[in-house]
Amino acid sequence: MKVMAQLAMVMNLDKCIGCHTCSVTCKQAWTNRSGTEYVWFNNVETRPGQGYPRTYEDQERWRGGWERDSRGRLRLRDGGRFKKLSRIFSNPKMPSINDYYEPWTYDYENLTNAPLGEHIPVAPPRSLISGKRMKVEWSANWDDNLGGSPEILAGDPVLKKVSDKVKLELEQTFMFYLPRICEHCLNPACVASCPSGAMYKREEDGIVLVDQDKCRGWRMCVSGCPYKKVYFNHKTGKAEKCTFCYPRVEVGLPTVCAETCVGRLRYIGLIFYDADRVLEAASVEDDKDLYEAQLDVLLDPKDPEVIAGARAEGIPDGWIEAAQRSPIHALIKDFRVALPLHPEFRTMPMVWYVPPLSPVVDAVSRDGHDGEELGNLFGALESLRIPIEYLAELFTAGDTEVVSGVLRRLAAMR
Ligand code: SF4
Ligand code: SF4
Repeated sequence: MKVMAQLAMVMNLDKCIGCHTCSVTCKQAWTNRSGTEYVWFNNVETRPGQGYPRTYEDQERWRGGWERDSRGRLRLRDGGRFKKLSRIFSNPKMPSINDYYEPWTYDYENLTNAPLGEHIPVAPPRSLISGKRMKVEWSANWDDNLGGSPEILAGDPVLKKVSDKVKLELEQTFMFYLPRICEHCLNPACVASCPSGAMYKREEDGIVLVDQDKCRGWRMCVSGCPYKKVYFNHKTGKAEKCTFCYPRVEVGLPTVCAETCVGRLRYIGLIFYDADRVLEAASVEDDKDLYEAQLDVLLDPKDPEVIAGARAEGIPDGWIEAAQRSPIHALIKDFRVALPLHPEFRTMPMVWYVPPLSPVVDAVSRDGHDGEELGNLFGALESLRIPIEYLAELFTAGDTEVVSGVLRRLAAMR
């Protein structure tokens, strides 16, 4: 057993109101610069929806999935060693700027400089890249508040996987918000696919970073990351990504997104994991076993054997105490109410989500029952507005039993 520490985040989706404060404050802090106009280290998606960059969950389109090598080990089909120079210029797995969106500003001067006329002047959108006037047709969270409309349903890669019975009619719309940052994975595909050794996972706390001096702009990390959370700065020619606000956490402050979150839904903390078992867990045969496999590599910070292992690895006592106090381990492993996003991507993501329960209460009140009664809450699981099958495709590679268990525990707690 090799005990390592990891900074992780749990987000309680019931509390997200989709205000985008997290995205805006993150942008103000980290990507309010030339070359990163289109970049949102933190973005908030409306589900169902296409996400950002659009259809990033369509792994056939972006990455081609996983394959087994001659020794039977799973590996990224497009990851691993960089082979041909030409792939940089014709990398079919890399999103184009149109999949993110062409960033724009508004021609504000027109408001004050327009010649006197009959009509009130407007500030038309202008491209931040070409400087020309443009028609805005797509952007981050273009789907906002449109959850359930036929166009959105048609474009959602997750919805394509669920059965016909949950392909809902417009009058049965459902929606919720899904805030996303880099997952700071235990098995990061971005690190595996970087030919320059510029992407790395910090030993002490598992934060995944890009060494700007080493990055040579191959962009294999952009195509390699299944969550599409590495971005290319077109001014510097280097890759950039969420840093888990490491300059802040190093001095004891939370990430900007967590500190400014209006819903107070982001929990941050240290967890311990067994580094010797990560690859084995990421390689289990059946996608539906990945959630349990991912739980298995997480270690109990109160277990004397784990504490001894942590000390042997040089983890300070203060950190061990912090991991013991952290709500992260409890939410993920003790109470089992937080789930990883797309465990089937096999990178062992470390941002976890408490799935939304509100629709259960909604279903109860629609039936005219008392939402406080436990029996009614359990019964209402059958008539959820957000289909369990949809949540399962997001969080458990399709295992509805696990999601239903989480919702029951949440209902019981409520
Ligand atoms: Fe790397 Fe993507 Fe995982 Fe972040 S989410 S650590 S960028 S593979
Ligand atoms: Fe959701 Fe919090 Fe972000 Fe607002 S600030 S969108 S509540 S995660």
